[in-house]
Amino acid sequence: MMALERATYPQVDPGAAALMHRALAPCPGRATVRDALRLLRRRRLRLLVARERNLAGVLLPGDLSRARALGLGGRPARDVARWGSPVVAARASEVAVRRHLLEGAPAVLVREGRRILGAVEPSIAAVGPPAISLLPRLERLLPRATLDLLRRIGASAEALGARAYAVGGFVRDLLLGRQAAELDIAVEGDALALARRLAGEWGGSLVIHRTFGTATLEGGVGPRLDIATTRRERYGTPGCLPEVFPASIEDDLVRRDFSVNALAVVLAPRGFGDLLDPCRGASDLARRRLRILHPLSFVEDPTRIFRAVRYQSRLGLTLDRGSRRGVRLAIELALYPALSGQRLRAELELIVAPPEGPLSLIALGRLGAFKILDAEYRFSLLAARRLEDLGRLRDWLRRHAIASDALPLGLLALLGSSPPAIAQRCLKRLALSGEPLTRLTAALRDGPAFALRLARERTAPASVRASLMRGRHLERLAGAWLAGGAAARGQVEWFLVEGRTAQALLGGDDLLALGAARGPRMRELLDRLRDCRLDGLTTTREEELALARQWIAPAARAQAAP
Ligand code: ATP
Repeated sequence: MMALERATYPQVDPGAAALMHRALAPCPGRATVRDALRLLRRRRLRLLVARERNLAGVLLPGDLSRARALGLGGRPARDVARWGSPVVAARASEVAVRRHLLEGAPAVLVREGRRILGAVEPSIAAVGPPAISLLPRLERLLPRATLDLLRRIGASAEALGARAYAVGGFVRDLLLGRQAAELDIAVEGDALALARRLAGEWGGSLVIHRTFGTATLEGGVGPRLDIATTRRERYGTPGCLPEVFPASIEDDLVRRDFSVNALAVVLAPRGFGDLLDPCRGASDLARRRLRILHPLSFVEDPTRIFRAVRYQSRLGLTLDRGSRRGVRLAIELALYPALSGQRLRAELELIVAPPEGPLSLIALGRLGAFKILDAEYRFSLLAARRLEDLGRLRDWLRRHAIASDALPLGLLALLGSSPPAIAQRCLKRLALSGEPLTRLTAALRDGPAFALRLARERTAPASVRASLMRGRHLERLAGAWLAGGAAARGQVEWFLVEGRTAQALLGGDDLLALGAARGPRMRELLDRLRDCRLDGLTTTREEELALARQWIAPAARAQAAP
């Protein structure tokens, strides 16, 4: 038998060692951010390496400078390490190294034995994002009219000497095979001029936010458009609103919250549909991974913690290890006086509104995120149980078509088991005031006692039970439902579907015909008739007429006679 001779083509793989630089050093265990920056500068290093058990992290100059700018120069340098950096053997193949970089690793560490010899960074390995066109996907998933609209936006921008991109959630949802309800457009150039031009062509109402250089166009052709000039951001204090500067689309993408939102699609006629993915968001989406773009992302803007949980629940993504550390650091650094209560409340409203809202609040509680509302807030087992119960209450309300506001109910469940002073501080931190604050405060304060009373009175006549609950806002009833046991809950549910809507069969005209006077007395008679009906004393109009005749004094009848 003839032996098979395989012609082997000589392959040249330089391996990891040939790609790496050696401008790195271990990060001293107790070094502060300031020390680490000094060390980098003095020894002209490109990065420092931290180790923790079998985990490696890289400290990059940009992250350390950012920490110093946020006033964290005295914090341990390791806080800003990018943990979980891949480590490969010196003889690992170039392909293996590039794969890590393409998956978003900020650097690949190269070791010999246990010693780190060097690092390969994306700039050294010249790893650019692969050129991908989303055009086939756009054509498949979008209605023709929307696709035309995108083309027209791109062409209109070009006519103004600008470049337009579809960005953020729209692109993310497209990659997930979904269609987003809104369209965010980023413009390299004058976004407001583009917005005016589109409004002129398509009609609809245009709202311009001059301070932010953004505009919203609604009610014209196609979906709602948010149009903004591409920008870079600088945060001076944790939690503050950033200073913004016009910048390139790449800068605009890397300032965003998560890699899966740092995506853009070119709308210019040339290259229409090309994907820009500088942070490897597409690869993260494929792995269902939610990843922040630098270790201080949550410190710069703690509302991103709330956004993270929302994306976890809604899109089934999971925070990666480095991002989870980022959350812990941001929570450790709470409070955030520069973060406005309105912003916090707006994010909470978005989280709690969807059906999975209560579970998202549990996830936030477990992360310790409500420390941002008040340093003494503790997320207890009882709070978790009440939030689970809230899920059941909301299902029940939905099934019975009873409208409710998600945020107040969420806050009742979240804060109901906290000491009143802490609960009150949390409500104020969310910038609640006036009637909503008064109502929630009362519901939290009275919930348990009200629930006890309802349970105690469960065998009282229906009219008595209904009178306990009538005129109370849904939040007060929900407060009792959440704080109470089965008996109190049963009472609230009975009231909401039966007790609340019960009415006399007779109306005002019937009583007038019987000689009743107009005014409060008439209301009183109708209420008495309703109570008789609730208590089962009357079931027909005739029975009510008979009762009403007894109640309306013959003298009054005589007076009413013509
Ligand atoms: P969805 O509306 O589906 O929740 P979205 O991505 O459209 O998702 P928006 O809140 O409309 O979310 O924000 C638009 C984009 O702006 C996001 O995709 C993200 O890139 C960016 N963004 C929003 N909020 C922040 C933030 N706090 N920090 C950084 N980037 C943000």
